[in-house]
Amino acid sequence: MDEVLSSTLQRAVAEQLDYLDHLVDAGDEATKMSLATHEISRLTTTFRTMLADHAPDEHGLCRACRTAPWRRAHCGLLKAAYSNLIGNPADHGNGHTGRHSLRISRTAIT
Ligand SMILES: [Zn+2]
Repeated sequence: MDEVLSSTLQRAVAEQLDYLDHLVDAGDEATKMSLATHEISRLTTTFRTMLADHAPDEHGLCRACRTAPWRRAHCGLLKAAYSNLIGNPADHGNGHTGRHSLRISRTAIT
């Protein structure tokens, strides 16, 4: 994908997200119900697709964010998704660390 097309697509997505934020802030109840019915499903589908693209490899490294074999980059998408959807792992205060601490915080919202 060339730079112009990428910029155009990124701008269009950003504008759509701004529009959805506006509807959440200024929309009436019918509009918000429509958002919950239609847009949340589209957003979760989009998020799942992005997370699949950023799935860890056999070494636990993101396949999309790793740009060179010698560079062990952390996944920016996963960090942003976790902090925005669940919270800062350091703020859980549950005394648990490691991969199982994420499971505990996840069950707290169900
Ligand atoms: Zn990634």
